[in-house]
Amino acid sequence: MNTTDRVVSGMRPTGALHLGHYHGALKNWVQLQSQHPCLFFVADWHALTTHYESPGSIGNNVWEMVIDWLAAGLDPAKAVLFLQSRIPEHAELHVLLSMSTPLGWLERVPTYKDQQERLSDRDLSTYGFLGYPLLQSADILIYRAAWVPVGEDQVPHIELTREVARRFNHLYGEAPAPAAQAAARKRGETLENTPVLPEPQALLTAASRLCGIDGQKMSKSYGNAIAMREEPASVTKKIRTMPTDPARVRRSDPGDPGRCPVWNLHQVYSAEDVRTWVQQGCRSASIGCLDCKQPVIDAVIQETAVFIERARPYQEDPSQLHSIVAAGCERAREIAQTTMRDVRSAIGLGYV
Ligand code: SF4
Repeated sequence: MNTTDRVVSGMRPTGALHLGHYHGALKNWVQLQSQHPCLFFVADWHALTTHYESPGSIGNNVWEMVIDWLAAGLDPAKAVLFLQSRIPEHAELHVLLSMSTPLGWLERVPTYKDQQERLSDRDLSTYGFLGYPLLQSADILIYRAAWVPVGEDQVPHIELTREVARRFNHLYGEAPAPAAQAAARKRGETLENTPVLPEPQALLTAASRLCGIDGQKMSKSYGNAIAMREEPASVTKKIRTMPTDPARVRRSDPGDPGRCPVWNLHQVYSAEDVRTWVQQGCRSASIGCLDCKQPVIDAVIQETAVFIERARPYQEDPSQLHSIVAAGCERAREIAQTTMRDVRSAIGLGYV
């Protein structure tokens, strides 16, 4: 695996995923797996940072989410799929990085205060919650990732990761760690001076933002989501009952797609000719809202049918799923262990 091009990303196990997850992140992961060496992990420890009082559902959520990854088209022959908690080296790197990370860097991360306010029903004044962006840094740096696919709101996390790596390299040396040097000598190669922990770059994704059926951001907690494996009858019902432009009280009232959440679905699901039909038909009241919704219903059902079909073998035989993740963990562990040998040795902990 070529580290100079490696992509690493993770997702918290929230259970079965919805179409917002697919269009916002997963679809991009599926493309990336054919362009880069990729590692994708289930961030199950991260789930504990906010749900430490109710860990009971994490296990089921993990497997449901991995089924959806595979249903989306992630291919274990192309990408390494694994579980964060099965690679304890993430925790070791986290603790070592925590020694030199100023508290202020973590307190400054914008999502820290935002999330504390948003999840005010939980006590998030914990060490784990403050430190979760540093755990994310360890998740990335341990694989010496070159790229991390993120949305705009996650860019400060990558900036933090870059700062953490820079500080580590400044404190403990830019030269290749002895373990890496020895391995290179065995191969008859010499290593240039490279940082022990290379700084990753954010790979900003031009992902489509899919609204929920009420026009707000799609989210399971808002109750406005369409699941990736939603049954056709339920997809139809959800879209048919979606609110539309409030100006269209009667069928003969003209509307404005810009004020209608159904238009957001057309932007993701419909080709240019259908979108033109919607724009003209809505503004001139020559189409009704149910006519307008039908092509979206058809397109969503076509998409979810593929996911349902791909998921079936893993639901029927979960052992396949477990084997894929076990093989991914093994591959990830090899990389993580190599990095940790170099990290320990750079810090001066290589005395055993
Ligand atoms: S015609 Fe389509 S875009 Fe216009 S208000 Fe109805 S559902 Fe929305």
